[in-house]
Amino acid sequence: TYVIAQPCVDVMDRACVEECPVDCIYEGGRSLYIHPDECVDCGACEPVCPVDAIFYEDDLPDEWLPYLTDNADFFTET
Ligand code: SF4
Repeated sequence: TYVIAQPCVDVMDRACVEECPVDCIYEGGRSLYIHPDECVDCGACEPVCPVDAIFYEDDLPDEWLPYLTDNADFFTET
């Protein structure tokens, strides 16, 4: 899955939302989130992000690894 990391916080440009073919990018309070079960790993969202907040999970910089669970948790909270 692709993951949205720290640069998105308080930015939420939403260019990625337009690109996603399966509409799996959702809006939270301060960041956008990618639904890990709905993402088809097409990569379309990554290059359009103006703040480079989107990474393939294996390419996440170490300091942003918590965002992997952060994105998933967003969809399991009620
Ligand atoms: Fe959507 Fe593709 Fe980005 Fe996954 S990789 S969030 S399917 S645009």
